[in-house]
Amino acid sequence: MTVTSFKGGIHPPEKKELSAHKPITGASPPARLVIPLIQHIGAPCKPVVKVRESVKKGDVIGAPTGFVSAPVHSSVSGTVVAIGEFPTATGKLVPSVTVENDFKEEWAILSDNPDYMSLSPDEMREKIRAAGIVGLGGAAFPSIVKLSPPKEKPIDTVIINGAECEPYLTADYRLMLERAVDVISGLRIIMKVLGVERGFVGIEDNKPRAIHAIAKAVEGLPSIRVCTLPTKYPQGAEKMLIKTITGREVPPRALPMDVRVVVHNVGTACAIFEAVRFGKPLIERVVTVTGEGVREPKNLLAKVGTLISQLIADCGGLREDTAKVIAGGPMMGFALPSLDVPVTKGTSGIVAMTAGSIAHAESFEPCIRCGRCIDRCPMGLMPSMLSIYAEKGFYEGAKDYGLFDCFECGCCTFACPSKRPIVQLIRLAKSQVKP
Ligand code: SF4
Ligand code: SF4
Repeated sequence: MTVTSFKGGIHPPEKKELSAHKPITGASPPARLVIPLIQHIGAPCKPVVKVRESVKKGDVIGAPTGFVSAPVHSSVSGTVVAIGEFPTATGKLVPSVTVENDFKEEWAILSDNPDYMSLSPDEMREKIRAAGIVGLGGAAFPSIVKLSPPKEKPIDTVIINGAECEPYLTADYRLMLERAVDVISGLRIIMKVLGVERGFVGIEDNKPRAIHAIAKAVEGLPSIRVCTLPTKYPQGAEKMLIKTITGREVPPRALPMDVRVVVHNVGTACAIFEAVRFGKPLIERVVTVTGEGVREPKNLLAKVGTLISQLIADCGGLREDTAKVIAGGPMMGFALPSLDVPVTKGTSGIVAMTAGSIAHAESFEPCIRCGRCIDRCPMGLMPSMLSIYAEKGFYEGAKDYGLFDCFECGCCTFACPSKRPIVQLIRLAKSQVKP
C-alpha cells in the first residue's frame, strides 16, 4: 500500500548510511547505573528502595504517583548505593537511584507464556502497565494511557510508526530488520487490547529491506497492512503519519484518539510484546550512537541508566573535531550539556556532530519575508511571525499565530535562508507564556 504525503516538510541529508548496516549489539555492562525516577511525560515516580538495599534485575525501584506515569525498574542486579538528584540529558537535576552492578544478571521476574494471546485485554493492559512501557520514539508518553482510551473515544485503527524520519537514527530500522515478528506480535497485542481490527505499519520508502521484513512478518494476517510512506521529514510525527495513512486530520491541540487512531513506535511494540509474553519490564532499549564525530557508529542495546559517555566509549570515542553531541536526532534533539548523563527510556539516539556537519551558522540575519518557512511548516503555521514575535519579546502575541500548535519539528529553521533560529525562538516563547 502506497500513499501520498502531507503538505510541507523537508528533505534533510539522511546520513543513515553511517549506522544502518550495523546489527544491534549489546553495550558493555556498566559498573554503576544512574536510573532517573522521571523518564516519562507525567507524574514522577517515588523511590521504593533504600541505600544499601539489594535489588534484582527488573525489581521496581520507583513507583508511579499518578495515572499518567510509569514505574521504573532496576536494569541490573546489585546494590543501591545512592538516591539523590543527578543531571539528565536536558541538564535538569532529577531524583535518581544509583545501582552498583554485581554482574550476576539475576532476574526478579521473567517467565515465558507462549499462550500470551489468550490473555484478556485487561490482563495484557496490566502487564504493560507493570512493565513501565513508555513511547520509545522519544516522547516517552506512558503507553498504558494510550491503551486505556475513554469510552467516548473508541479506536478503530492502530498504526505502528516505522518511519524513523529523523536523520542519522537507525534503531527502529534495525529492530524492523532483526525483530520483525516481535514488532508484529506487539501490534497484535495492542490491537487486542483496544479491540481494533485494522492495523498498519508505516515505513518510509528509503527502507526497502525493512518494508520487506515486515511484509513477510504480516503474511497470513489480513487485518495488518504495511504502508509505504514517501520519505519526507517529519513523516514520523503522529499527525503527519495519521494524515498520510488514514486521510484523517487531527485538529490542533487534539490527540490521535480524537480521530479514532492510536500510534505506537516500533520499539514500543517490541517492548509491549516482551512485557506481555515474558513479563519483562522496560530496562533496556536500542540507541543509535552515530554522527561524523563518532569513530565507530553502532546500534547498541543499552541498559537504562548507562552513562552516555560509556556508550560513546563503546563506539571508539569521539573524534577531535566533534563540535557538539545531541540526544535524539539533529532535527528534534538537543545538545547534551555533559556526556555523563544516563540513557533513559526515551533515548533513541546520540549524534556527535563535527563542525563541518552542522548546517546552521552561529549568527543569523533578519527575516527577508521569503516565505520558505511557511511553505515547509507541516502544521500550516507562520514560523516567520512566531520567530519575530519571540525575538521582540511579544510572547502573548505569538499565541495568536499558533505558538502551541508548533511541535518543534525544525523544518522552518532548516529552510530559512537567513539562518534564523526559529525553533529556539519558539521554545523561548513557549517557556514564557501559558498555553
Ligand atoms: S513552526 Fe513549528 S511545526 Fe512549523 S515548521 Fe517550525 S518547528 Fe515545525
Ligand atoms: S524562511 Fe526565514 S527569512 Fe524566509 S520568511 Fe521564514 S523566517 Fe523569514
